[in-house]
Parts: sequence; C-alpha cells; structure tokens
Amino acid sequence: MFLKDKTEVIEIRAHHLLCILGFCGLGYSEEFVANLKKIITVFRADESREVILIHQCDDVCKYCPHNIGGSCQKNNSFAENSPTTMDLNLLEKLGISSGAVVQFNRAMALIKERINLNFMKSICRDCEWENLGYCEEGLKRGWSLL
Ligand code: SF4
Repeated sequence: MFLKDKTEVIEIRAHHLLCILGFCGLGYSEEFVANLKKIITVFRADESREVILIHQCDDVCKYCPHNIGGSCQKNNSFAENSPTTMDLNLLEKLGISSGAVVQFNRAMALIKERINLNFMKSICRDCEWENLGYCEEGLKRGWSLL
C-alpha cells in the first residue's frame, strides 16, 4: 500500500486531481480504493504537500488492475479518450507542464479557477465513473469542502 514518507514527492497524473475531487469510495479493486484513500488522507493532513503532475501511471495507478507493468491498459495511450489524453488536456488548461512540481492545494485552486463542468465532461466523457455523477458533484463542491 501507499508508503511514501513525508519527504517524498507524490506523483499524480493530472486527471486524477478530478478523480480525487469526485472520489466517494468506489474504485477498480479493494486495494485501489484503500490506496487512494491513503493518498487523500495525506493531502488532507498537508494540503500544501508537493506533487509532481504527470501524464503517465502515478501513485494512484500503482494498485490499479489496469496498470500492467507501469502502463495503463484501459485505453490506447494516445487515443482521443485515453487517460493520457485526459491528463494532457487538463494540464494544458491549467497551464502546467507535465513533470512540474506544484503544491497540491495550488493545483486544486487552479482547477477551481479554470475548469468548468463542460470541460470536465468533455475530457471525461468516456470514463465509466463520470456517468455516476460523483465527479460532477466533486467539481462543484471543490477540494475545500470535500
Ligand atoms: S485506469 Fe489507468 S489511469 Fe486509471 S487508475 Fe487505472 S492504471 Fe491509472
């Protein structure tokens, strides 16, 4: 399970910022859910914790059954609706380069400023979780009220 110590920078693929906002305890497996809960607990305890925003598998993906050898097999890597494309589209909208280190609460503040529902629905349109409505609720609510 998630074991990074306080000095290690957490890797987050960009679209997982939206997943974190919408997370309600559901996920791909028990291990996946437990890991994501731990990551969110870390951010709750230290909202200014630095993260590296990336467009590859991250610390959330580590316990996902779709992660095969460090690569997401859910969709083709650069397909229009792939997780990688979602990451890159979100990073562009946030004005952040892949690989940049930012404080978690700064990234969440940028999402609040720059990401609206239409944009989220467009990049997440083929995600099985988006249809459940939790991500929409999460985006409206924002990190501070989660
Ligand atoms: S589906 Fe892909 S991007 Fe999403 S958590 Fe699993 S490995 Fe990561």
